[in-house]
Amino acid sequence: MIQNSEHSMIIIDSPFHVSFTGHNELPTIACVGKCKKPWWPIDLEDVAKDVCPMCGSVTSAAMEGVHYSVLAQANRDLRYGVLGTFRPKVTLIATAHAS
Ligand SMILES: [Zn+2]
Repeated sequence: MIQNSEHSMIIIDSPFHVSFTGHNELPTIACVGKCKKPWWPIDLEDVAKDVCPMCGSVTSAAMEGVHYSVLAQANRDLRYGVLGTFRPKVTLIATAHAS
């Protein structure tokens, strides 16, 4: 369940993933092993923060320009057509925010 009263979001590009969050925050943890995925604190609430939940590799503090770059950051919902180029999950969230 996404609680997002301000409808802000951010899209992050990393070596093998385009990630996003409904919160206008940058990721704080990044996998430095196989999958290179950036993680937000909410992703790691129930798991060890020094091990990547995706591939089991070591993680480190995420640094913009090193582990990820910001593709888009918006204080309002991005339009469906923009989000439609990303993963289906993004589209679902965009649709939910459209109403
Ligand atoms: Zn990983």
